[in-house]
Amino acid sequence: MPSSPASGYWSRRQRALLEQLERDEARLNARLAEVYEREAARLERDIAAYYAEYGEGAVIEYRTLLQSLSDADRRLLMERMDDFAAKHPQWAHLLPVRETVYMLDRLEAMQTAIRIQQLEVGAIEQQELDAHFREQARRAANLAVEALGFGSDFYAINAPVVSDTVGAAWAKGESYSERIWANREKLAAYLNDDFAKAVARGDGFKRIAADLCERFVGVSVRDARRLAFTEGTFLLNEAQRKVFAADFDECRIVCADSRACPVCKALEDKQESDPIRLDEAVPGVNFPPLHPWCRCSHVPAVADWDEWIDGYVARHGGDAVTPPIAKAAKGGGL
Ligand SMILES: [Zn+2]
Repeated sequence: MPSSPASGYWSRRQRALLEQLERDEARLNARLAEVYEREAARLERDIAAYYAEYGEGAVIEYRTLLQSLSDADRRLLMERMDDFAAKHPQWAHLLPVRETVYMLDRLEAMQTAIRIQQLEVGAIEQQELDAHFREQARRAANLAVEALGFGSDFYAINAPVVSDTVGAAWAKGESYSERIWANREKLAAYLNDDFAKAVARGDGFKRIAADLCERFVGVSVRDARRLAFTEGTFLLNEAQRKVFAADFDECRIVCADSRACPVCKALEDKQESDPIRLDEAVPGVNFPPLHPWCRCSHVPAVADWDEWIDGYVARHGGDAVTPPIAKAAKGGGL
């Protein structure tokens, strides 16, 4: 079978879907970048307050940080934890255990505050990404049903195909939600380590604040971009696979024109002549995304479209109209 021309019906619609996804991603990334800048400024204020309380001039003696925390500071920390738990009861289990707060010295208190802030940022990411991903899954599923001839707005945002796809665990058994928390936990550990080392080195407030904020924003921006991109590819493919599975047995991977990577290209060539079963598609193994930053998609593979149309009509009733995807395949390519 020759390669489908990129100008075919399905390729064109799929490309428009990807362009829309990338516009939404750009907006999402811009919104999150604002959150990171705002939170970095808050971290800087927290460090400033910390230096004002425990420092002498612009530096802090490391050993004064090993003293116990004042009651007022402990109360503030507790309040911040309570506030998080009230706002995000579903994530409250991620907070440090309350009893441990009584044992914290001043350094550990700052580190705990840094960790709580990372949870606060993670909660915002969970919300933003969930809304973004739902919309992408809905749109991708709708494009697939449209190709099957069911109109273009078949699925609503709360349709099972959307809810079952968004938040599903895939590569290494991790969902995007777990990945957000793993990224935040890792960044919190880095910032905690940066802070302790900088104080021990005798770095001044300005230097510490600048270093921490730079790492905070830089890592957050990179992590969020990669996560949204790769998970977006997962959702697009997974939502469509679920729709296609009702009427097709096999599919093959189609590389993104601009970003074709050697790993995916080799699979594309292989599946061109040897498609995989839709129910045996495994993201990260034989189905996109194959790796971080993968933007490949898939298309149903049918050896004989006439036979497929006969089967389709038999399944959907005698007056079933030939779906657009079959018409396109017969008329020159997908
Ligand atoms: Zn790829």
